[in-house]
Amino acid sequence: MVVSFLAILFLLIVLVIAVVGFKAVIMQGRSPADAGTEKCSICLARHPLDRLVARQVGDHRLLYFCRQCIAALGEDLSRVPRGEEAPQKDTGR
Ligand SMILES: [Zn+2]
Repeated sequence: MVVSFLAILFLLIVLVIAVVGFKAVIMQGRSPADAGTEKCSICLARHPLDRLVARQVGDHRLLYFCRQCIAALGEDLSRVPRGEEAPQKDTGR
């Protein structure tokens, strides 16, 4: 009887550690104030998600860009000469 009680206690402790560890992995060091925000991939400043443009790169990487950085990119782009040929996609093959 004592052994089964200790076994159940041990399982509960393992379960609590697993839940706490899982939450720590999900939060990844974010404070509650950071919820609903994301870092801009260029200036690294944190902005609310609804003020960022998201683009997927590759299979799972998601990059976020803020308005100021996109405007700066637009200014840089206006200085790049316009090409006439269509852009070629690099498929890596
Ligand atoms: Zn930015």
